Amino acid sequence: MVVVPLREEGYKDKNMARHLGANCQLCRRCGDKLMLKGNRCLTPKCVMERRHRSAATGRGRRRRVSEHGIQLIEKQKARYTYGLFERQFKRFFYISERQPGITGDNLKVMLERRLDNVVYRLGFSDSRPQARQLVLHGHIMVNGHRVNVPSYLISEGDTIACREASIKKEYFKRLAEEIKSKTIPGWLTLDREKLVGQVVTLPIPDETLAKFDGKSIVEYYSR
Ligand code: SF4
Repeated sequence: MVVVPLREEGYKDKNMARHLGANCQLCRRCGDKLMLKGNRCLTPKCVMERRHRSAATGRGRRRRVSEHGIQLIEKQKARYTYGLFERQFKRFFYISERQPGITGDNLKVMLERRLDNVVYRLGFSDSRPQARQLVLHGHIMVNGHRVNVPSYLISEGDTIACREASIKKEYFKRLAEEIKSKTIPGWLTLDREKLVGQVVTLPIPDETLAKFDGKSIVEYYSR
């Protein structure tokens, strides 16, 4: 018997901005680590680590997944990873489809260009949900202007900085220490003293660390 593990209607955000439940639940649904909880994801407390241990010892449930189920999982992985509402995600997909090149790759790059993602990749936060909060609360400046829209798409040459008034806050004082040991991707540069980053060039699909398969998402929306 073929079982489809994910159902759209099971996800309550059809009428809400985004998922408000436990982030770990999303990883469980997708069967993959989506790294939504920052440093906790790297510890043995991670639910998926426990699940992998159960699988290794032969315990735990196994289920067969249909082709459509796999495509749906890939789409949900991308959506959960970047914290997008289905409607927003579809819009990103259709824009990617109209761009020249491979749709799946275009989608990866577009998602990676979101301001909340760039804040995360610069090391200003431990996770994308946390980066989203920083942006929403007005702590982030783009090219000298405060931008509080997480979906804002950055461009080549843009400067992303923490707001001067925010730097005095306890969070950013701690961050100034922690950020010294963080690694940032090659398409960004960072002044770790001033907490100012710059987009040297737009990312290429391989640099996005995207865990989803773009081709499956294309197939999902082509049905
Ligand atoms: Fe939870 Fe992070 Fe583990 Fe996902 S990767 S299950 S968000 S701790």
